[in-house]
Amino acid sequence: MIDKKHLFNKTIIRSYDIRGIYNKTLFDLDAKIIGNLFGLKVGKNQNVNIAYDGRLSSESLKNKLVEGLLEVGVNVTEIGLSPTPLLYFSCIKNKAAGGVMITGSHNPKHHNGFKFVFNNMPFYGDDLIKLSEKAKGFSFKRNRGKKFKQCFKDEYINRIFKGINLKNKHRIAWDAGNGVAGELMSKIAKKINNQNFLLFENVDGNFPNHHPDPSNPKNLKDCINLIIQEKLDLGIAFDGDGDRIGVIDDKGRVLSGDQLLLLFSYEILKKKKGAKIIGDVKCSQILFDEIKKKFGIPIMSQTGHSHVKVNIKKNKADLAGEMSGHIFFNLNYYGFDDALYSSVKLVELLDKQSKKLSEIVDQFPKAFNTPEIRLECNDLKKFEIINKVTFNQKRKNQEVIDIDGIRVSSKNGWWLLRASNTQAELVLRCEANSFENLKKELSLVKEAIFEVDSELSDKILVENYI
Ligand SMILES: [Zn+2]
Repeated sequence: MIDKKHLFNKTIIRSYDIRGIYNKTLFDLDAKIIGNLFGLKVGKNQNVNIAYDGRLSSESLKNKLVEGLLEVGVNVTEIGLSPTPLLYFSCIKNKAAGGVMITGSHNPKHHNGFKFVFNNMPFYGDDLIKLSEKAKGFSFKRNRGKKFKQCFKDEYINRIFKGINLKNKHRIAWDAGNGVAGELMSKIAKKINNQNFLLFENVDGNFPNHHPDPSNPKNLKDCINLIIQEKLDLGIAFDGDGDRIGVIDDKGRVLSGDQLLLLFSYEILKKKKGAKIIGDVKCSQILFDEIKKKFGIPIMSQTGHSHVKVNIKKNKADLAGEMSGHIFFNLNYYGFDDALYSSVKLVELLDKQSKKLSEIVDQFPKAFNTPEIRLECNDLKKFEIINKVTFNQKRKNQEVIDIDGIRVSSKNGWWLLRASNTQAELVLRCEANSFENLKKELSLVKEAIFEVDSELSDKILVENYI
């Protein structure tokens, strides 16, 4: 028997994944221990697929993780340098019991981490915390799992294009931000037609051009400029591991995640009345109202790709999306977040229309929004504030949704206050049907926070956000 004892840095075990700064809070040895523990969870002779992104530390972490898995007798299939959706796809294809993606997603370049799949569902939250706690003392009999290599890229691309018949030419800017989606992005662009403009398709863990995070408009500048200069039809950008998409219309305007989801919702609801569509708690009320108007069933979910995937399964939903750009197709696909598949579905949708993307988006109902307002607040206090605010609002008989933070609706708008999943921050956002009402919503949330913490409420300067 081998006995091991290990302590992880406390900050790296998160609710959705394991994440840290390489050689500062996250080390190669952690990867090996994680391999041991996840391997013991999955079980001897079971198969685990492994993929990694293009970060400088990813290969090293991957090698150690594989060592840890083999040591406890798990068989490993390495699928190589790949975006996260390809890992998910591979697990379905070779019926792997588990999968681990080594990725820092859209985080700064020295960060890295692990995303887990167990029986084709996200492995996260309490399960992940319990697993990591076992590191304090565990033992196993040394085994030797088998190691395989398998490439799923061609099968994946073929699956993405299954049933897609494009009739028109589309002039598109594609931006992988030197993240790991670049290679497959180029293959997809080529398959669509030869009128593409590729940006930063080569994998480079130094991210020399811009950070691979399309949710920050600053990172889309090159793509926007290219669209305007070359008069392109649209722009598509990917995050560092290819599970989040950013979309820019022909006028160089960035679509928000809920606008993109609405676009796909209309399309699905043309074919399937009663389709169930999930949006996260940050999405506009317009999304939920429009789905209902088109005879769909809108469902609101907590924010976070793992929560959304669980909700898709639970509700047998057809489509889901988040403000952050994770889009999940379940109708005729697998229900995981796949920005590469979403990009092709978007081109297919536009192929059937005579209108430009900007014209379609301009027809969407309008709302007035604040940006996401971030208030620094320590991790313990942030949940306490949410609880107190929720208690007060319920007592006042407000219309409250409290699945993730608190979202309070009135007939003219809503406000949302939630604890950030990743930082010591409270995040708030308001939406209303007029500029005046937006101001009112912001004052309402300010007042709600004032009731429990006047100092924090002082940090909200209404005039700064609208
Ligand atoms: Zn990602």
